Amino acid sequence: MSETNLKENEIKGRPLNELAALCHSIAREKGFWDEKRNTGEALMLIVTELAEAMEAYRHQDSAHFNEEMADTFIRLLDLCGGMKIDIEDEIYKKSLKNKNRPYKHGKIC
Ligand SMILES: [Mg+2]
Repeated sequence: MSETNLKENEIKGRPLNELAALCHSIAREKGFWDEKRNTGEALMLIVTELAEAMEAYRHQDSAHFNEEMADTFIRLLDLCGGMKIDIEDEIYKKSLKNKNRPYKHGKIC
């Protein structure tokens, strides 16, 4: 297993698809993809990061909250990378749909 040496410019300012590839490569290095990934489990691990963010919010611990938000994105981007999802294109297509939806998408909240 190789040691990861990560430079700031490998992360900051990078397009989402590049971040997805990088997060996925780090997760692979750390063994999270050694066996076939269970998609449901991966999705629930993303939810657990959001739950950790909620706990940090409840404790008014903004540094921990920010870290858990980063964990959430890292796991989400890893999954996108692993599933070869062009997340930039998917966000673009969904944003086009959302722009054409009514106020609050026709719902009360
Ligand atoms: Mg976490």
